[in-house]
Amino acid sequence: MSSIEKTKKASQSDPNVLGHFISGKEVNSKEAGSAARTGKIYDPATGKVSKFVELADGDILEQAIAAAESAFLSWRGTPPHKRSQVMFRFKQLLEENADDICRAITSEHGKVLDDARGELGRGIEVVEYACGISELLKGEYSKNVGPGIDSWSEFQALGIVAGVTPFNFPAMVPMWMYPMAIACGNCFILKPSERDPSASMLMAKLLTEAGLPDGVFNVVNGDKETVDGLINDPRVQAISFVGSTPIAESIYQRACDKGKRVQALGGAKNHAVIMPDADIDNAVNALMGAAYGSCGERCMAISVVVCVGEETANAAVAQLEQRVRKLRIGPGTDTSNDMGPVITAESLARVNRYIEEGQQQGAELTVDGRGLIVAGHEEGFFIGGCLFDEVTQNMSIYKDEIFGPVLCVVRVANLDEAMALINSHEYGNGTCIFTRDGETARYFSDNIQVGMVGVNVVLPVPVASHSFGGWKRSLFGDLYVYGPDAVRFYTRRKTMTQRWPASSNEEGVQFSFPSN
Ligand code: NAD
Repeated sequence: MSSIEKTKKASQSDPNVLGHFISGKEVNSKEAGSAARTGKIYDPATGKVSKFVELADGDILEQAIAAAESAFLSWRGTPPHKRSQVMFRFKQLLEENADDICRAITSEHGKVLDDARGELGRGIEVVEYACGISELLKGEYSKNVGPGIDSWSEFQALGIVAGVTPFNFPAMVPMWMYPMAIACGNCFILKPSERDPSASMLMAKLLTEAGLPDGVFNVVNGDKETVDGLINDPRVQAISFVGSTPIAESIYQRACDKGKRVQALGGAKNHAVIMPDADIDNAVNALMGAAYGSCGERCMAISVVVCVGEETANAAVAQLEQRVRKLRIGPGTDTSNDMGPVITAESLARVNRYIEEGQQQGAELTVDGRGLIVAGHEEGFFIGGCLFDEVTQNMSIYKDEIFGPVLCVVRVANLDEAMALINSHEYGNGTCIFTRDGETARYFSDNIQVGMVGVNVVLPVPVASHSFGGWKRSLFGDLYVYGPDAVRFYTRRKTMTQRWPASSNEEGVQFSFPSN
């Protein structure tokens, strides 16, 4: 029996209803004496409700905030190397329990198990980075800034901080936030997506098993009402948000108005440019995974290919068309599949609607994946890969984030036209260029208005020691998630100036402003 199963049995009253994780244990509203609203969790591969999740009300939120508040001073005072020891043990437990976590991800999100392993692995990298917190939190020191005066800056934890996360990476995106927040000495309240919250609950249990004191990490399941509660509570010092742009913008504005520190990462429309000198085979290989992996439900998914020159476009479209038709689509538990279902029936309807609009607006639907029936999973939320050619800037399939397996090809005459297109898009999360020419690559990366840029790297997701974030309407706030920015986001600078006067020194009164 894995350690996760053991803790599950000890704490869960109704295994079909997921509660919350507060102060080191699972809490259900009934036990807590409050009336529970619940949301449905689907298995997207079968289209059936697999369980329910409680949606926290004010009482549950109060319990979580109170637990975090009472744990804070002691956790803040715990030496950083002791905090990193918890992270070391947590990393090991994540690896030992990876199968359970990935199965939970696949059963609620739908992505293929190998893809779930990939996201968990990228999350674990952030835990590894957080293990070095003693080094990362080192302050700045200056001796003799004035006669006998020394000065230093230290970085103190903020207190209670919250994370609100989307459905598409149920393990990795929360891990962009809480390992660094906790390692910095904060207490964390996570509000995961109500569509696939199980991975967060499993990780919470493992943190407790790793020795994290009760109350330092809490999971409150819920929806808008819960998020509003976090925004409105003055004890919550900062909010990290990842999700769609309208919600990111609204949370950023409302939480800033309440005086909180906020980073809110939003949606994306990521372009890949193929130059005439590129290795087309390599580019197409890379694009297949980047456009259709995880059914296109990634904030770094490539959803637009900008082909420079007609010859490039014809070659790329011919190859893509063949490859998209051959995509293997089915339940994520079968690792021979390339792609699973989308998350909900509403998402499926939304993707279908965009495809209709694309056709009505004059794009050429080269591969139509609609209406796909997977044998044995007839009610699942499946759609095949879709490919549009001759897409233009004014079409909704180009302008909007579709968040499904739909790739749009735009044909342009030269690099400047490609870059003008990307720079005028409202989103600026990720982009990439395929070329064999160093000068082109350098010009592109210097001048493109996008936060994360790849050169012959289709998904330029920064490693844990660099920070992740987009530009324009893909991020509201100043600091990125994880990496060095996370230390700045989750701490507050305090600058000390200190003198120990010698007992023999007589100091007179000074009315002028102190100068050196
Ligand atoms: P979403 O915006 O619907 O939900 C995100 C979170 O916000 C969830 O926890 C949800 O419960 C909560 N929420 C929803 N409506 C709310 C409201 N009105 N007020 C307060 N909270 C609310 O996003 P989603 O559908 O779960 O995820 C997909 C989106 O996330 C896509 O747009 C994708 O691009 C984006 N995303 C961005 C990044 C990035 O790094 N920029 C990473 C992953 C996902």
